[in-house]
Amino acid sequence: MTIEQLIVYGKSKVNSQHAKMLLADLLHKNSLELLNILSEEVDPAITDEYYRKINLLAEKKPIQYVIGNVNFCGYPFLVNEKVLIPRFETEELVEKTRDRIRLFFPSAKTLIDLGCGSGAIGITLKKMFPSMEVTLLDISKDALQVAIENAKLNNVTIQPLISDMWSDVTTKFDIIISNPPYIKTTEEIDSLVKENEPHLALYAGPDGLDCYRKIIANLKEHLNDRYLVAFEIGYTQAEVVSNLLKEQLPDAVITVEQDLQERDRMVFAMKVD
Ligand code: GLN
Repeated sequence: MTIEQLIVYGKSKVNSQHAKMLLADLLHKNSLELLNILSEEVDPAITDEYYRKINLLAEKKPIQYVIGNVNFCGYPFLVNEKVLIPRFETEELVEKTRDRIRLFFPSAKTLIDLGCGSGAIGITLKKMFPSMEVTLLDISKDALQVAIENAKLNNVTIQPLISDMWSDVTTKFDIIISNPPYIKTTEEIDSLVKENEPHLALYAGPDGLDCYRKIIANLKEHLNDRYLVAFEIGYTQAEVVSNLLKEQLPDAVITVEQDLQERDRMVFAMKVD
């Protein structure tokens, strides 16, 4: 089979973009490069793998899980069904956090990513600030295993920790960042998400706030004197999460930031003096 024949076959079964992305990934090329070599023959083992994965896509498996990796802020991350697929909004959380670290915490030494999943947030920040000690924490052993693999893939050293939020954490940090589960248990969400991604990483009780309450209740004892707290939030949760933070951290400056779709998506709490 040639590349062109495989693409035509793929397009008959699934979204044509996905068919091209899948074949490109199997051939270690990008989708555009494929267009220059359409008449090349594909190795039979790769052809079989392509058919198998086209079937998974046809069964409505997310392309990221089928391919098994994603690009997040320019870095590669392995993903499987044990971890949430990193979202564009979370890249914005990382970028806005990076800007604050550069401006206000250039010599920050310690950061913890609470509920790290694939490790995308913490590992990307470690790439950006190599001298920071980064702890990746998750309640799921399987998720943490993916995060450990991703740290290796990106050539960084991180401290992995299995814990139900603060239950097994004894130290303080300069920076605490989290994209915890924040969906209401009763909320209707996209079926592609609901049927494939880990519910442990999505849902957080009747109002979607369980994880923020858990994190914020013990926040003070895990923060150094100068600190930055960065949360991704659901777009209706800015006010209530800000208020929860204000109660526990009365000295902090609290700001809400919007994502590219102009929805409230991040809350920061910062103390710089
Ligand atoms: N952002 C996720 C979604 O859109 C929700 C869960 C999370 O990221 N914390 O499905």
